[in-house]
Amino acid sequence: MATLGLVGPFMTCYDKTGETMIIRGLFSEIVDRLVERGGAIHPSLVRAGTAFTSWIVAGHDHVTPFDPEILKKLLDNMLRDEKVQVLYHTSFVSPVMEGKSLKRIIVDSKSGLQGIAAKVFIDCTGDADVAYRSGVPCDKGNEKLGIMQPASMFFRIGNVNLEEVEADIQANKHNFYRKNGVNYRSFHWRVEEARKNGDWSLDRVSIGMFRGVAPDEWSINTSRIMGIDATDNQSLTFGEMEGRRQVEEIFKFLVKYVPGCSNAKLLSSASTLGIRESRHVHGEYTLDSEDILKGRVPEDTILLASNSIDIHGRFGPTSNEYKTVEDGNWYGIPFRSLIPQDVDQLLIAGRCISATADAAGAIRVMPPCMGTGQAAGTAAAIAAKTNCNVRDIDYHHLRKMLIEQNVFLPSN
Ligand SMILES: Cc1cc2nc3c(=O)[nH]c(=O)nc-3n(C[C@H](O)[C@H](O)[C@H](O)COP(=O)(O)OP(=O)(O)OC[C@H]3O[C@@H](n4cnc5c(N)ncnc54)[C@H](O)[C@@H]3O)c2cc1C
Repeated sequence: MATLGLVGPFMTCYDKTGETMIIRGLFSEIVDRLVERGGAIHPSLVRAGTAFTSWIVAGHDHVTPFDPEILKKLLDNMLRDEKVQVLYHTSFVSPVMEGKSLKRIIVDSKSGLQGIAAKVFIDCTGDADVAYRSGVPCDKGNEKLGIMQPASMFFRIGNVNLEEVEADIQANKHNFYRKNGVNYRSFHWRVEEARKNGDWSLDRVSIGMFRGVAPDEWSINTSRIMGIDATDNQSLTFGEMEGRRQVEEIFKFLVKYVPGCSNAKLLSSASTLGIRESRHVHGEYTLDSEDILKGRVPEDTILLASNSIDIHGRFGPTSNEYKTVEDGNWYGIPFRSLIPQDVDQLLIAGRCISATADAAGAIRVMPPCMGTGQAAGTAAAIAAKTNCNVRDIDYHHLRKMLIEQNVFLPSN
């Protein structure tokens, strides 16, 4: 999503007070390398309520603006340096099981069908494709309500006049709609005007526009496509075409109505539709919203995060729910949430780990996804080296190794 999906900025990696960077490890290594290359602004320098956060206050302190073009090249280089064998353009097709153990996967690509054997697999597909087809029980979105969060097509624009944009925001700050400290509604005064003129047909009432590293480059997170099922290719195709249609309408709106955007250029729309939610794996532990809001830190915590529960569109296209940690400054994601039920030698990382739909609304953002990836990778390495079942890994040993890799896991 950070590269093909043009999603940005990286959501906060700090604790609730905004004092301590709590998502470190591989995430902070990537950020530091991006900063060195002029491809990011370090989150310590980025505050809530500014152009970098689309003027949102709650939960958005210390986000990381980054340039997806520079990130792409950096990630390729890091993989090359570590001699990782990468296969782009390759899709998972099916698992090969021996009893409960995942032994091989079949993949499809221009080379045809291939089998890949491994001691441990990690499902980072976002949609839990490997887990689901291997027989792990999964939820799809919020099963009780029968819905998933809406999809969006991100796009980036350039040649924006920052001063003019800021001036319009400052002149209209009294107009911001606030709920739980969050002002969702930047430029709603312009959207209302456009709607009256017949220039706005979308269900959104305001604009999410996030300043990038360069002051004239912005990421636009405004399109909304309801009812998309990311596990169904017809639905995905419809969503992607509808997303591009919406991008065109939003871009025309920006040029015509938003001061500072009259000379803006459309740099690119995302190459793939942005998916907020699809399957949630059932694991040894299911993280829920109480765990997050009450700031619980289980003994087998592999990552601390403070990201807020952010659920779009549950009560119709314009609804947004946003809940921030109530007790303490962070919560812990347990190793057990990365271990799926029923299938051995498989771990899960990213937005499809074992969590309720509400809890996934918090841990789905990119810094915690990278953190669960690092923990799953480290656990897989332990299991592969010691020939053990991933379920039997001693979490004390795993935590020790993560701490050695600069993951922030204080003992109390
Ligand atoms: C509109 C939108 C706005 C968002 N805003 C923010 C934000 O501002 N900040 C933030 O930090 N986060 C944001 N997020 C959340 C975040 O981008 C995603 O939740 C996160 O990137 C998920 O990471 P992941 O690694 O689990 O999945 P992804 O980033 O989706 O990666 C999954 C990878 O698996 C591959 N894959 C999938 N299926 C298969 C298969 N069958 N075979 C082979 N490969 C496969 C995909 O090609 C992809 O490379 C937003 C998300 C959306 C959609």
